[in-house]
Amino acid sequence: MTNFPLGDYLLEALRRHEDWRKKWEPASADASRIDSSVVERALDELTERLGNNYPFFHPLYAGQMIKPPHPIAMLGYFATQLINPNNHALDGGPATGQMEKEVVADIASMFGMTPHLGHLTSSGTIANLEALWIANCLRPLSSIAFSSQAHYTHKRMCKVLSAKWIEIPSDKNGKMDLDALRRLALSENIGTVVATIGTTGLGALDPLDGLLELRNEFGFRIHADAAYGGFYRLLADEALVHREIFQALAQCDSIAIDPHKHGLQPYGCGCILFRDPAVGRFYKHDSPYTYFTSNDLHLGEISLECSRAGASAAALWFTLRCFPLTADGLGSLLSRCRRAALAWTQLLRTSTSLSLLLDPELDIVTYFAGSPDDSAGTLSRLNETVFRIAMEDPRSPVYVSILRVPVSTIRARYPSVKPDQDSVTVLRSCLMKPEHADVIPELHGKMESFARIAEEMMTGKSEQVIFPPQ
Ligand SMILES: *Cc1c(COP(=O)(O)O)cnc(C)c1O
Repeated sequence: MTNFPLGDYLLEALRRHEDWRKKWEPASADASRIDSSVVERALDELTERLGNNYPFFHPLYAGQMIKPPHPIAMLGYFATQLINPNNHALDGGPATGQMEKEVVADIASMFGMTPHLGHLTSSGTIANLEALWIANCLRPLSSIAFSSQAHYTHKRMCKVLSAKWIEIPSDKNGKMDLDALRRLALSENIGTVVATIGTTGLGALDPLDGLLELRNEFGFRIHADAAYGGFYRLLADEALVHREIFQALAQCDSIAIDPHKHGLQPYGCGCILFRDPAVGRFYKHDSPYTYFTSNDLHLGEISLECSRAGASAAALWFTLRCFPLTADGLGSLLSRCRRAALAWTQLLRTSTSLSLLLDPELDIVTYFAGSPDDSAGTLSRLNETVFRIAMEDPRSPVYVSILRVPVSTIRARYPSVKPDQDSVTVLRSCLMKPEHADVIPELHGKMESFARIAEEMMTGKSEQVIFPPQ
């Protein structure tokens, strides 16, 4: 297969758009007329400014959860953006409103959630906000519980909603501690538990299968925050990821998932699903402006946001035509990410300069330079140095990220680490692109050499040079 000829297809999409416009009389004033020299100057400036970015597309960018959308998604987005439909109401985007309903149904059936009520959102934050809002509407007097490793949005949104919340401790693997939850559930009124399916830091999976059993006992609701990990459901049946946890998603009361994370989409595409369509009653409102062209349910009647890009729905719809939600479709891309994480894990196990922090459950690998006999403080300084020199290497940089974890997490596997502080800074790599699978030995080798350089710098006399005043 050759590289996708994005430019050719973009032009083709533009041509087809122009044909479509010809169905109407030419409009007289063209507000898009502008002197080309102005455009060229602005484009020069834009190009220069955009140069100040990390190369998110490159397989040696293995840092944060970020990558460009698939060219297919770009094409779908571009073709639709020329019209700019608004998925708030069928008045604003009849075609893309329908596409949104179809893709949301596709995602719901990936999870086995039938029936469902759901819609796309601008982000995982909004998807989770809607889930917590419904949780609070249904159980206004009880608390929302989430683990200490849950995304910070949950605590913040509970504040926005004036909802009561409880933080559940995580175990040494960064997963919700169900014994701790059980103890708290005996004394507290917990209405909804948020299970994170792929924490943003460690990529850990809260034990959803065990949580379902506790739900039978205590009767709380369960919201799954699968913003990052949800699409890994496609690999569960072949057991490339924890099968029981992903299969349990079908039984959650709501699920948040971000197509703009692992669904190949540009930013602006989250999704919320509810198992009980009757929660739609909480969204009920009237609008003096919209909802007139169709008696069907308008998306704005079941979402908190008003205007939303119809292009987001169309881009996802178009992407799913090319990469359906099956193990061989989108799943084949995810399996390469997962295999990249497993391959790196193997190399880390036998490395003399880097150590594995945790076995990855999805595609986030966490590791650290330095000796497990060092203190948490020394390890933190060393790994911050590795991070800096890897990112700043003038010839051949490698982009990773760093993560602060509780010292108990590192001591679970490496009890000799001295707990001179509560947390320890380690290295973290999100292997979100299938292309990582081809560069793991190179990535690992480079990080090993950065680890050795950092150790020499720290033990040598150059220490003052490399540590700027904090
Ligand atoms: C990314 C993420 C969020 C927030 O989603 P945005 O799309 O960034 O707003 C929430 N929860 C988890 C687990 C995430 O990974």
